[in-house]
Amino acid sequence: MRPRRLLALAILVLPAAAPAAPPVTTVLRCGRLLDGRGGVRDNVSVVVEGERIKSLGAEAPSGARVIDLSRATCLPGLIDNHTHILLQGDITAADYDEQLLKESIPYRAIRATAAVRTALMNGFTALRDLETEGAMYADVDVKTAINRGVVPGPRMFVSTRALAPTGTYPLLGYSWELRVPEGVQVADGVDGVRRAVREQVKYGADWIKYYSDRRYFMRDGALHSWVNFSDEEAKALVDEAHRLGRKVAAHAIGRDGIEAALRAGADTIEHGHGLDDELIDVMVRRGVYWCPTIFVGAYVAEGRAAAGAPIWKTMVDLERQAFAKALRKGVRISYGTDAGGYAWTENQAKEFAYLVRYGMTPMQAIQSATSVAAALLGQEANLGSVEPGRYADVVAVKGAPLVDITELERVSFVMKGGAVYRQD
Ligand SMILES: [Zn+2]
Repeated sequence: MRPRRLLALAILVLPAAAPAAPPVTTVLRCGRLLDGRGGVRDNVSVVVEGERIKSLGAEAPSGARVIDLSRATCLPGLIDNHTHILLQGDITAADYDEQLLKESIPYRAIRATAAVRTALMNGFTALRDLETEGAMYADVDVKTAINRGVVPGPRMFVSTRALAPTGTYPLLGYSWELRVPEGVQVADGVDGVRRAVREQVKYGADWIKYYSDRRYFMRDGALHSWVNFSDEEAKALVDEAHRLGRKVAAHAIGRDGIEAALRAGADTIEHGHGLDDELIDVMVRRGVYWCPTIFVGAYVAEGRAAAGAPIWKTMVDLERQAFAKALRKGVRISYGTDAGGYAWTENQAKEFAYLVRYGMTPMQAIQSATSVAAALLGQEANLGSVEPGRYADVVAVKGAPLVDITELERVSFVMKGGAVYRQD
């Protein structure tokens, strides 16, 4: 009885043949437009129809909603290709363990919804989130909630749990009598890593992330590390991911870890402090991207040095040298911050100032977070530039970011998919 009556009600309320509403047209009148691909134009109208950009520079169609940004600089929505929405800062191992031991995954997911809202309001309309740090597949759930309009947030490209072999990743150091949470999915052996990749793809991974190395140390003037997986395991991991249409991000800090990740065929190198000329040449030749995550290194260095690991301060200097070489040789450097490795109360746009201080022009820094970042994601047709056909992901700042890159820390307008989320 009851289900049938509900059904009848639903039919009354929702007529099946409702005509589709015509797409809403919005015009952004931009005083200046940085298109994300190096182009600069003044006094441009960006015509948005539905969730995509229809045209540039055209007259506003009659009846269109006009948003006046004539005293602002418009640019594509920013993309951060290395975040952890389920982490809230882990300067020391104790900070990290505290979150995994004392916060439930539902609670961490609630905090993640605050993190993604913060990211969007700061102008980041797309994130590649590089593992949940023990929170299982909660990144997939946050992505689903954003896509269904339950919570506001960026477009999410998620990697779920990351992979590392037994004994190489926190939580470590507890009594063997205790079963404590793992910060990754532990996988061993060729069959083990293939099965783990399949499982992550099954539950929604867009990318596969793995930890190529740990234990960083200096020897003969170079930053070295212990490599986590055997070559056979790492190659199987990358091969299985590629077979299933997923790309692979490798955490690799020391030169040993980077070299192993490049041997295995990883698509992006994360952190990469130990990059030298030889490794840089391989990356250029193979088109491997680098997310240097500079700000987080500087941010955690003091705390980690105080906790007995001074190597983190040396690594800041090494990365700056590696950055200069990589920039000169033409490595594709993508914006990636490791936000979540530091608290979400820090604006992830602070990375821009480091990119410029380390040698990029402001325009190069902007492209690293727009067109270059979109290319890393394989999303050039949708994201990373303000052009007809792209998603209407557009942000604006009141100042001149080509003069002062820190203007990007003060985004005053955010549109994602044609919807306005912020307008100061
Ligand atoms: Zn990270």
